[in-house]
Amino acid sequence: MKIICDWDNCDQIGSYRAPLEKDNSKKYKLLCLEHIKVFNKKWNYFSDMSDQQVEFFVKSDLTWHKATKSFGSSDNFFNILWNNALEDKINIFKSESFDEYKRTQLSSTDRDAFDAMELKYDTKWEEIQKQFKTLVKKFHPDKNQGSRKFEDKLKKITLAYSQLKITIGKKK
Ligand SMILES: [Zn+2]
Repeated sequence: MKIICDWDNCDQIGSYRAPLEKDNSKKYKLLCLEHIKVFNKKWNYFSDMSDQQVEFFVKSDLTWHKATKSFGSSDNFFNILWNNALEDKINIFKSESFDEYKRTQLSSTDRDAFDAMELKYDTKWEEIQKQFKTLVKKFHPDKNQGSRKFEDKLKKITLAYSQLKITIGKKK
């Protein structure tokens, strides 16, 4: 018995595994080559997004307003969601509403901390750690002919890092 591609209205042979959930390789559906490509494109789209972007995306009105078909089954629901995501890719995260969203998700202390470390508000913890090391090296007296002129800046950076360690680092 041949297994037919699980895509809507497709009659090709399904020989490629498409995972149903992230982090769960056990459950999958089978798709033909053409549709596994489409599937992977959509899948990767989400993996490139930060958690915050995904959250915003899911909550965003922008997505739902563009739906042209009715959602029907849950498979169809995600197909429409993904298709809309691809259309919105260029614009959605440049929009003012996403910037506004990012601002409201952070306390003013966190925002100051990100600013002090010269980082974007949605920087991941690993990147924050890297940036901390970079900045400490840059402003350390040993790297500045023993000058302590950057002492205040270094203090500020350290305080900012401690703050972000509590709010961003703990989410790991
Ligand atoms: Zn197919």
